[in-house]
Amino acid sequence: MHGNYYEATKRLEIITEPLAGDLSVDVAIIGGGITGVSAALHLAERGYQVALLEAEHIGWGASGRNGGQALPGFGAAQTKIKSLVGAEASRKLWDMSMEAVDLLHGQIQRFNIPCDPVRGYFHAAIKPRQVRELEETQAELAELGAPVGKLLTGADLRARLDTGKYLAILEDNISGHIHPLNYTLGLGLAAQAAGAKLFSQTRVTKVEPGAVIKLHTARGKISAKFLLVAGGAYLGALMRPIAGYIMPAGTYIMATEPRPDIAALIPGNEAVCDLNFVLNYFRRSPDNRMLFGGRVSYSTLPPPSLGASMLRRAQSVFPQLQDARVEYLWGGNVDITQNRAPHFGRLAPNMLFTQGFSGHGVALTGLAGKVAAEAIAGQAERFDIFTKIPHARFPGGRRFRVPALLLATTYFRLRDML
Ligand SMILES: Cc1cc2nc3c(=O)[nH]c(=O)nc-3n(C[C@H](O)[C@H](O)[C@H](O)COP(=O)(O)OP(=O)(O)OC[C@H]3O[C@@H](n4cnc5c(N)ncnc54)[C@H](O)[C@@H]3O)c2cc1C
Repeated sequence: MHGNYYEATKRLEIITEPLAGDLSVDVAIIGGGITGVSAALHLAERGYQVALLEAEHIGWGASGRNGGQALPGFGAAQTKIKSLVGAEASRKLWDMSMEAVDLLHGQIQRFNIPCDPVRGYFHAAIKPRQVRELEETQAELAELGAPVGKLLTGADLRARLDTGKYLAILEDNISGHIHPLNYTLGLGLAAQAAGAKLFSQTRVTKVEPGAVIKLHTARGKISAKFLLVAGGAYLGALMRPIAGYIMPAGTYIMATEPRPDIAALIPGNEAVCDLNFVLNYFRRSPDNRMLFGGRVSYSTLPPPSLGASMLRRAQSVFPQLQDARVEYLWGGNVDITQNRAPHFGRLAPNMLFTQGFSGHGVALTGLAGKVAAEAIAGQAERFDIFTKIPHARFPGGRRFRVPALLLATTYFRLRDML
């Protein structure tokens, strides 16, 4: 069994070096995920001198490991967002999330990024309660003026998705899927071409705020007028004031061996996600493997017998995979907030942060980088709509964050089972 399927099917190489020596720039960015490289691109295109610092390599974090499902909206339902910020701001946030999906597809075209973009998605209901949720989603999308797909059941469902697991699926022609690592690398290359300096193997170990911010790394220092912190679930305690607002959780994906019969399971090549709290999400790869994601570990340690249990989950949807083999198995961390809405803000007037995408960041992170770049350039309106979303810390610091979340998850898991 191998590790990350995306690393094995990488189609772009990006040449980056560790920082060596001191450098002075307009903007420093911590984190080489989609947020960081998107911000670097947009800032460099505006003429700023940019240095992006990545502890490992570009796309090493969640951006190079995820399910590749690119959707509008947020980890929290739109009704929740509305209850948090009111009708007007929630409408603007929704529109920006739709823009995020267009931005993703626009950048892929503009920079010719070989990341196999596909539009087409199914939201799947396992229980009658979830069928009602799909109907509510349909009504909500209609109210928002978004294109609304059909609710498919019975033979119509089976013709589009060859499983008896679901009572209904909702078609969605806005969402879709991509190869997320190739996408991240493609954006990174575009950022470099625009003049941004990207450094790998360069962990920021200390940040000194001030009119000129100082970032310390093992082999050099960066001085910058602005900072964007985009370290996601991997930031740890570097920026203490924001650490307690997110909970890093491990989530996992497996890829089977390629099999021609897998194409017929999802003939239209849509991505699929069910509505359970600890959800299953899956799609097929261009070489006809089943990429199946799910499971959560709040310790961020992989659960025991992960490969076998992931395969069982896939087989519970597609018994046709009974004799399938797991060829790739990997995981990554998501940055969950208490309310599952993204957490953006400022640590100081010249220090911005984005985090808390809560497992819903493939499309939104690209826009996050763009609106952070706008804010640094002096147009903060759009960034500040995000900063209006109220957030609470996980109670009791990191040691107690896990038990609190586990309790909540156990409750929702039970609800999924009933
Ligand atoms: C297994 C998995 C499946 C997912 N599936 C989906 C999906 O299908 N659809 C969806 O919308 N979302 C999904 N997500 C979520 C999505 O991948 C993330 O929301 C998104 O990639 C976050 O991007 P980011 O740029 O904010 O962070 P990341 O991509 O995590 O990048 C942060 C980077 O910061 C670096 N870093 C941290 N601290 C420092 C430091 N001190 N110095 C230097 N560098 C540092 C890290 O090394 C890391 O590379 C999934 C996530 C995972 C893990």
